[in-house]
Amino acid sequence: MSTKIHRSPYQDLDIISEDLITYLFSNPLNTPQDRPIYIDALSEKQYTYGDVIQRTRSLAHGLQQTFGVRKDDVVALFSPNSIEYPIACFSIVGSGCVLAPTSAALTALELNAQLKTSGARFIIVHSSLLETARKAVKGTVVEKIILLNGASPVDGQPTCEYIASTFTPGTLTTVSTAEVTRKPTFICFSSGTSGPAKGVISTHQNITANLQQWKALVLGTGSPSQRPQRQTAIAFLPFSHIYGLNLFMCQCMIWGTSVIVMSKFDLDTYLRCIEKYKPDELSVVPPIALLLVKEERVSKYDLSSVKRIFSAAAPLTSELSSALEARFKNIWQTEVMCTQSWGLTETSPLATAFPNDRMDKRDANVGVIAHNMEFRFVDPESMTDVATNPDGSTQPGEIWCRGPNVTPGYFNNEEATNSAFFTEPDGTKWFRTGDIGTIDKEGFVTIQDRIKEMIKYKGLQVIPSELEGKLVDHPDIEDAGVVGMWAEERATELPVAFVVLRQQAKSKDLKTVTEGINAWLNPKIANHKRLRGGIFVLDQIPKSPSGKILRRQLKDLLKSKKPRA
Ligand code: AMP
Repeated sequence: MSTKIHRSPYQDLDIISEDLITYLFSNPLNTPQDRPIYIDALSEKQYTYGDVIQRTRSLAHGLQQTFGVRKDDVVALFSPNSIEYPIACFSIVGSGCVLAPTSAALTALELNAQLKTSGARFIIVHSSLLETARKAVKGTVVEKIILLNGASPVDGQPTCEYIASTFTPGTLTTVSTAEVTRKPTFICFSSGTSGPAKGVISTHQNITANLQQWKALVLGTGSPSQRPQRQTAIAFLPFSHIYGLNLFMCQCMIWGTSVIVMSKFDLDTYLRCIEKYKPDELSVVPPIALLLVKEERVSKYDLSSVKRIFSAAAPLTSELSSALEARFKNIWQTEVMCTQSWGLTETSPLATAFPNDRMDKRDANVGVIAHNMEFRFVDPESMTDVATNPDGSTQPGEIWCRGPNVTPGYFNNEEATNSAFFTEPDGTKWFRTGDIGTIDKEGFVTIQDRIKEMIKYKGLQVIPSELEGKLVDHPDIEDAGVVGMWAEERATELPVAFVVLRQQAKSKDLKTVTEGINAWLNPKIANHKRLRGGIFVLDQIPKSPSGKILRRQLKDLLKSKKPRA
């Protein structure tokens, strides 16, 4: 069967070959120097566009002088969202280093694993997470823990915030045109299609290309009245995830958007910020969309500035999307358009989005292929392209993609890189996304299923094999299999464990056993990985002859009969 390549409906963009920081600081939309860019949601402390550039250069200089940070070092950043975060990020990348952002929710053990994977030489840490970081660096090659925040030195050691205020600005390191397609800017963590968390390489050009693709899709289509202006944005999505990193930290420097930075999600703070700063677009994940539909408190605030709601990172059902639009209409008499995008850490992240002039098609699909990208829809069994239906749409198939925003692979992990890509005889490569989707004759993509192991709880990744590895260390558990269960009422998947109990535990009360497992497991894992879907007991975990867990069968068990809990 012949290869069927689906291209973006838009003409290719001329992808720039500057490094990320040169592009971010090039000010293509003439943002005034005194425009506030990062504003703390609670304290209202802010940095202007000019401050960001100046502080980045000072911090880059100070990191080199004070701590000996050198070109090509990997520097981890372990912090909740903060207005200091982007400055640290830009100065690391602007020093020719690689940034490895790690989720602020990680336990010391989880952080330790990520530090080992990235080989970070330094870790920049928010003061609230210092104790976790101190434990996590044991057995890694981290040479120094550097504090992110604090207006003065702590125990004689300058913090990033202090350095950025006191050092003279240095010259940032540029990356040659030849290097921008190879040199990593970020290493974010993802499980990919299977196995443990891996460091996804985002090159300079992966990120700059995605910034251009995003801008072209949002700014380049539709009449000016249809386009969001993005004067302000409320950022609660973690900067350590590629969605927050790209959309809020990087894009706002291009768009001149004032970003209201929330260190953690709190509904009242969020609503208050919308009322006060009047964004025309909200960037959410589906469980936040659900809160906006369900919570009584929402109606007490004036959210009438909102014209567009943009969801990503997990599936948004058409029922929820319609309910959200209806709620805005009922309460504030506003016409809100709710759309969703699809993408992955490996696609930096945006791979599909909604053109402004086709809002009529926004129901239940994730938009069109981004500029400069190509997709294939492939039967994962036969590895051939799926058939086309009489109406011009395709049958469901695994989405394979390529384009300037697609990662070259996983950091220091050739095996995982090789299995993530399909290589054509002529050497061209397709990234295998592990998502099943279709495309219609107008080029609109629908995501139908996920064949990879990854579970998404509120847009955050939960890796089954990681939880299984921990569960089998519990004295009562002989074997374990973890899958995701869709919870409509919470608009998210929930991690569920199936366990086989050891002989000594079989006679115990089941509730006591499962409570004991949770009490033992929870301190070892980040909050979003908790087994919120429950723990169910089986006589054996279904496996293939080669010992692979048959997760589909476990998911079917959840659908058919209620397992014992
Ligand atoms: P991450 O690398 O954490 O961004 O996770 C990427 C995965 O999230 C994708 O491979 C999908 O499985 C899922 N995902 C992202 N956006 C959507 C969406 N709009 N609809 C369905 N799944 C999505």
